[in-house]
Amino acid sequence: MKRVYNFSAGPSMLPQTVLERAAAEMLDYKGTGQSVMEMSHRSKAYKPIIEETEALIRELMGIPDNYKVLFLQGGASLQFAMIPMNLKKKGKIAIVDTGVWSDKAIKEAKKWMQVDVIASSKDTAYDRIPKVEKVSGDYDYVHITLNNTIVGTAWETLPDTGDIPLVADASSNILCGPLDVSKFGIIYAGAQKNLAPAGVTLVIIRDDLIREDLPAEVPTMLRFATHAAEGSMYNTPPCYSIYMMGLVLQWVKDLGGAEGIGRLNREKAAVLYDYLDSSGYFRATAQKGSRSLMNIPFLTAVSDPEKAEAINKKFVAEAEKAGLVNLAGHRLVGGMRASIYNAMPKEGVEALVAFMKKFEAENK
Ligand SMILES: *Cc1c(COP(=O)(O)O)cnc(C)c1O
Repeated sequence: MKRVYNFSAGPSMLPQTVLERAAAEMLDYKGTGQSVMEMSHRSKAYKPIIEETEALIRELMGIPDNYKVLFLQGGASLQFAMIPMNLKKKGKIAIVDTGVWSDKAIKEAKKWMQVDVIASSKDTAYDRIPKVEKVSGDYDYVHITLNNTIVGTAWETLPDTGDIPLVADASSNILCGPLDVSKFGIIYAGAQKNLAPAGVTLVIIRDDLIREDLPAEVPTMLRFATHAAEGSMYNTPPCYSIYMMGLVLQWVKDLGGAEGIGRLNREKAAVLYDYLDSSGYFRATAQKGSRSLMNIPFLTAVSDPEKAEAINKKFVAEAEKAGLVNLAGHRLVGGMRASIYNAMPKEGVEALVAFMKKFEAENK
């Protein structure tokens, strides 16, 4: 068996020990004679699975008691619509534009209310997080994208939104390290990058934002109140993905929880950034002070666009032969991108840097 180092932006790697445990439990989960995939979500065997997954996420993220943890479907993309539908009161929100994903959040929110883009880094191709200090105004909430998967930027200091709820898309950096949940009204994340296989969307929402008094036309399934009242079991939840999330969370706990995984992620990212900053042949695209620990886009120093394109293709193809896969950059940034989520071992990043050094020497 040969496993590769998968640098995909998502879905992405899962810890090998988690996959091994899932494989061992596949045919007969704890003596039930069934796979978790085959169980009723209302069975005695399944109930502890969802409960333990929730308990672990609460413990690892330090989620206060006045927040609900919901396991939904539809991805982060559905949250772009569901959040405005559920939080609309005054009819106006503020969004910080940090690239493609915040742009999608803006588009959906605009179907429901007035959207003020209060800051943007579009002028420098989204290579940084714009400065936002104090936000005030008549806003139902302020929305930010905590980690920008495509351009490789992340918020280091959160904006001060006072009493206005701060809503964050954390799809690509959920549980990448410690985070003060009490600073947020809602944190949401498609789980397929850092927590689980695709299919489950994690929503952490403060109780006062779960409203019953919504316009009648808001569908039952798109109300947070529906899912909160039923413990994410109003309808069939994504049972197997929730089970897998539980295994991943146990793995994070064994690594020292949010602190432990945060330390490891900083070390991993430093291995790659330090090389990119010293290479002269490759360079990181994101500005210092805004750099993501999870997604690291980089370019070569070749200035002729056609030559650069050929070099990029060669890099991606040769890397794949070396067992380092999915390194092609997003078309908006070009070049390459290494996504090094929680499950990417440090050895994988070191193998990438060793490959880059060799490539640099051969192609300079
Ligand atoms: C991947 C991603 C999304 C989309 O998530 P889906 O679960 O596929 O809808 C949204 N926001 C960010 C920041 C992402 O990285």
